[in-house]
Amino acid sequence: MNISIKKTLMVSAFSICLTTILGGGLESSYGNILLTIEGEPTVSAMKVEDKTYKTDVDIDASKEILRKVGELYIEDSVVNKDTILSIDIKANDKYEEYKNVISTSDSIEEIAEKIVDENNDEKYIDVNMKCKETRQETIEPSIKTVQKEDMYMGEILKEEGMSGYKEVVANVNYTNGIKTGEEIVQEKTIVNSKDTVVYKGVKDPIEDKVAFLEYPTEGGTITSLFGKRWGRMHNGMDIGNDTGDPVYSAIDGVVKECYYENGYGNKIVIEHDNNIMTVYAHLNEFKTTVGAEVKKGDLIGNVGNTGNSTGPHLHFEVRVNGVPINPQEYIQV
Ligand SMILES: [Zn+2]
Repeated sequence: MNISIKKTLMVSAFSICLTTILGGGLESSYGNILLTIEGEPTVSAMKVEDKTYKTDVDIDASKEILRKVGELYIEDSVVNKDTILSIDIKANDKYEEYKNVISTSDSIEEIAEKIVDENNDEKYIDVNMKCKETRQETIEPSIKTVQKEDMYMGEILKEEGMSGYKEVVANVNYTNGIKTGEEIVQEKTIVNSKDTVVYKGVKDPIEDKVAFLEYPTEGGTITSLFGKRWGRMHNGMDIGNDTGDPVYSAIDGVVKECYYENGYGNKIVIEHDNNIMTVYAHLNEFKTTVGAEVKKGDLIGNVGNTGNSTGPHLHFEVRVNGVPINPQEYIQV
């Protein structure tokens, strides 16, 4: 009976630590990495069919094989070689199941090449690399708000800032060529950013009759004005529109009320500076909540026909110290 025995070398549970500790400074220690092997690399088993035997590959040859693996891996890697701080190669769980092992008749170079080539598909070893990388990052300008007494409420002037940039040095970890994390070790600002400054008017627009409000919906027809109507006071203006049309905040403020009230239907009240409030009524839907900080032009609801209303429209009020005034005098056209 002629039994063909294929002698193969198994790199059993090898763990090689090609690590070196950088002795300060920013320069790479790539030159030293491949010369520094700590611990006992164990290329120490032979596999004949399903049985494993000790091999005669000695520790020095094992070290050479694994060192070559590291060398080949670095050659194939897209990482800038000058940045490598350390490399660490370990067999993983999958390695134990790995059947296609290495022939003892191969040279050290050939064995190493097989390990690297076959690992591309099988991933039975994990190569952990740490690289010291330098990059430039943009510093976005901060936004600073300045209140201007000589500008009316609702007026905004923006002075655009400028981005700066910084140099960032990070220790980046790669496992099998994929970035798995990083630690920033140094940051140096090269050019400072310049703040964007937003000048915001705070002057009271009421007395000077300044149109400071944005039209609170889109299009529509004014169907009822502010003032006496059928013998009683109409505290706002009505804009006839289609159900579902957008309703916008007329100016920056904070939502104070947002609920259904008899008469008004679904109603939103927004509080603004200078004791001014705006009211939006008969809404179909709310698109904001109490406490929300809204900007001029933000969507807050939809036109509807809720409450005491004979057709879809927006009832819009402006109140100063709680007293309704004619909104039309303050809406920008
Ligand atoms: Zn009305």
